[in-house]
Amino acid sequence: MTRLIFLGPPGAGKGTQAALLAKECEVPHISTGYILRSAVTAGSELGQKADQYMSAGELVPDDLILDLIQERLSQADTEKGWLLDGFPRTVPQAEFLQKLLDQIEQPVDFVVNLDVENDVILARLLQRGRKDDEESVILHRLEVYRKQTEPLIDFYRSRQQLVSVDGNQTMEAVYADLKRLVME
Ligand code: AMP
Repeated sequence: MTRLIFLGPPGAGKGTQAALLAKECEVPHISTGYILRSAVTAGSELGQKADQYMSAGELVPDDLILDLIQERLSQADTEKGWLLDGFPRTVPQAEFLQKLLDQIEQPVDFVVNLDVENDVILARLLQRGRKDDEESVILHRLEVYRKQTEPLIDFYRSRQQLVSVDGNQTMEAVYADLKRLVME
């Protein structure tokens, strides 16, 4: 049973590491960003609503995200655990998640904070070439992260659920650290 939350700025390597670890632990990798991008591509109602926020580097409003995550965590494949990547991103989202996990009796093992320096993040994001990776949008996403998501570090630290991993290292070294943590 593995239930983990990945925290960290955009470009920290959350997506890559979460995907690798989810495969290793045989649990679903739940990325709200991926779900939203798929909804945009499919042109669904959710996608149409989310698109403008995502293109601008803003967070999608909570009312869209909370239903989405509640629905995803009620699917059968989550019985063996899950790995959350990109959710929660605000304190209200984290509070909602805590209540939801209490209700469905699925406590989180711990929260991984991928700690990465600013210049490393910028270099990585500029290389990635995604639609929302234009420099001005990147800078805005980083600002949104600092303001709205970084407070979650204290939120989880004060609940003794936070574990920090040095995300400045190579992908392989970060993954080795993560694996060690999960196998402990
Ligand atoms: P990501 O792939 O996690 O970097 O997410 C890409 C974009 O999707 C973000 O910049 C937000 O616009 C949106 N998004 C993803 N997850 C969330 C979330 N938990 N709350 C609000 N917006 C989100």
